[in-house]
Amino acid sequence: MRVLRWHGQKDIRVEEVPEPQVGPGQVKVKVKWCGICGTDIHEYEAGPLLVKVTKPHPLPGSKMAPVIMGHELSGDVTEVGEGVTNINVGDRVVVRPTIPCYNCYYCKRSQYVQCTSLGTIGYIWDGGFAEYMVAPSDTIYKIPDSLSYEVASFVEPLACAVHAVRRAKLFPGATVAVIGTGPIGLLTIEAARTMGAGKVFALETLPARYQVAQKLGVEAVINPLEVDAGKEMAKLTDGLRADFVFECAGPPAAMLSALKVSGRGGTIVEVGQMVEPCQFPFGTLWMHEKTIITSQGYTDEFPAAIAFLADGRVSVAPLITAKIGLDDVIKQGFEALTGEERYNHIKILVSPEL
Ligand SMILES: [Zn+2]
Ligand SMILES: [Zn+2]
Repeated sequence: MRVLRWHGQKDIRVEEVPEPQVGPGQVKVKVKWCGICGTDIHEYEAGPLLVKVTKPHPLPGSKMAPVIMGHELSGDVTEVGEGVTNINVGDRVVVRPTIPCYNCYYCKRSQYVQCTSLGTIGYIWDGGFAEYMVAPSDTIYKIPDSLSYEVASFVEPLACAVHAVRRAKLFPGATVAVIGTGPIGLLTIEAARTMGAGKVFALETLPARYQVAQKLGVEAVINPLEVDAGKEMAKLTDGLRADFVFECAGPPAAMLSALKVSGRGGTIVEVGQMVEPCQFPFGTLWMHEKTIITSQGYTDEFPAAIAFLADGRVSVAPLITAKIGLDDVIKQGFEALTGEERYNHIKILVSPEL
């Protein structure tokens, strides 16, 4: 079968490999759609980050490079392994890419995202940029007929957004600001609204990206490079600013914007992956009793994400900027998302059937 494998930094290859064999407790999925994630791009440009190249990951059945990428996938079950009773051949499904050990201190407290040997499909386990993939049955979620495979490939990134809104303990009617309108920022706008937010604002420095946020019905898009984002936010909210700010961009400057646009007693949720250290005026934080929390991945938010997409409360059509075949995944996928036109794209979906 054809697959996309990560071999090294800036070295990914579409190639032929044997179809995977389903083991006990595993399920084989014929992939319909798989989205390219920002994390895939990091692994391509700056890896190995999650991929193992010298020492194998402790998860039994895990893979070192070369490994098949892709973790935002939907498909059909074509085979189930020995002992699998909850999933049947023909089920329409999505796959949760996180594989916890279920044995460590954190897994025993149901904090699977903190599992000390958490494995992620698409990095240490063969993933969804392939005609077929196999995964442990506990990572498989059935999807309703009302949910198309294409839309279902957004369950995984939407689960991140739902997790962030849950971590924030958002209250009904709250004013929300989302910084950064890439895929996770846009899905956070929608998740926050679905989960009870009142007015939702977006902060974005790239004019190319205003339109999609506007299509999703935000009150306003504020560009912190053009205006004082804090003052602008105050003007738009009778001086109150945002009760909750979701920082989904990543650079340290975005965290300073978060501080400015959050109101007194507000909560700032760091969703973006801030790789550089950030200098932060803690005095302001203290004075206005603001709270900073972080959100990384998800635990049990797949059912919520499936429900929100199935009945259209979260709409992803404006986020899809290209649909391509597996053979074109390098040029029209990874290179498009790292080249000059990268900010014209939000989400690129890949299908082995195109
Ligand atoms: Zn992802
Ligand atoms: Zn664990």
